[in-house]
Amino acid sequence: MARPRATVTGLEIFRVKVNRRGDWVIARVRTSVGVMGIGDASQSGDDGSMARFLRQFFDGLKGRSVYDIEYLRGMGMAEAHKSGRAAAVAMGALEQCLWDIQGKMAGVPVYDLLGGRIQERIRVYANINRSTEARTPEGFAAMAKRAIENGFDAVKLAPFDEMPRKLSDAQVIEKFTRQGIERARAVRQAIGEKRDLLVDVHSHLDVARGCELVKRMEPLRLFWIEEVTPARPVENLAAVRRAAAGKMRTAGGESILGVQGFYPYIRGEAVDVVMPDPKYCGGLLELKKIAAMAEGAGLAAAPHGPASPVGTAAAAQVCATLPNFLILEFSYGEVPWRAELIEPAEQVSGGGLALSGKPGLGIALNERVAKREELRR
Ligand SMILES: [Mg+2]
Repeated sequence: MARPRATVTGLEIFRVKVNRRGDWVIARVRTSVGVMGIGDASQSGDDGSMARFLRQFFDGLKGRSVYDIEYLRGMGMAEAHKSGRAAAVAMGALEQCLWDIQGKMAGVPVYDLLGGRIQERIRVYANINRSTEARTPEGFAAMAKRAIENGFDAVKLAPFDEMPRKLSDAQVIEKFTRQGIERARAVRQAIGEKRDLLVDVHSHLDVARGCELVKRMEPLRLFWIEEVTPARPVENLAAVRRAAAGKMRTAGGESILGVQGFYPYIRGEAVDVVMPDPKYCGGLLELKKIAAMAEGAGLAAAPHGPASPVGTAAAAQVCATLPNFLILEFSYGEVPWRAELIEPAEQVSGGGLALSGKPGLGIALNERVAKREELRR
């Protein structure tokens, strides 16, 4: 029984205004069989370059089968190694579109195409860092409380963000370190002992201060501490990991591209929890491969992702299939209409993200909301 060959025929780009940290960009691919798929192209850091890569990769895909994901990867990885994040985000967005299309054509959720669902709950943590404008202990605590009231049971902040890079004055470093610990402590008090607290250091410390910080943070009983030192050299992160052993997990890897990038990171025992970002790592299939490599090393996977609700839904499809899935990032509180940008509306309860069970990514773009929040191009 021959079916018409489904090929890639068209591309649209939607942009919605979010905040000073960037817009959300959604790609939509059309096909010869009428099925459409969407994907998240947000947080590239350079939406202009990203859109050019999106069109470049689309030109490469046009007329090809909607199943040509490894072909897209080959094309996209080469460019991403050369040109960086904007190319990676464009490749990842198109890849999400193709998975969405494949799932809709087969009448199954993407997780069924990636091995089937084994995770009942897609546990998410509220990253409150982007939405907290008042960067005092009280400001972070108030946002954390809101997240808990909205169904989350785990909260992350990056309390050292105000520390300038390349500081050398020990007293100044200590001042910002103490400020960060105070913010984290306020959030711990706000959320209570039964919820989980995650701290992202955004690579602000050197290895000696990083190892020291782990000791100082121990009373806060962190779920994990993230990227204490820069991702390279991995030996520094590995030293922090050893210092944290028995006290808290360490996590990282959000900027790393592909299995090739993650191999030395995992082999070097940089962290306990790897955090590939489906937007930056090369796509949903790449995320699955990286998580498998982590599983081989006895590590957990916790995808990174300040993302639009489309990107979060896409990541969740993969998380549902990972034996070593730990928790997924959720960018909390950036805009009040976040949940409505997709249909069915995004829903978090009991600390978990609901999956609709519908074919593909399980969601559609709510064009009415997308248009209202502007920038259709
Ligand atoms: Mg991070």
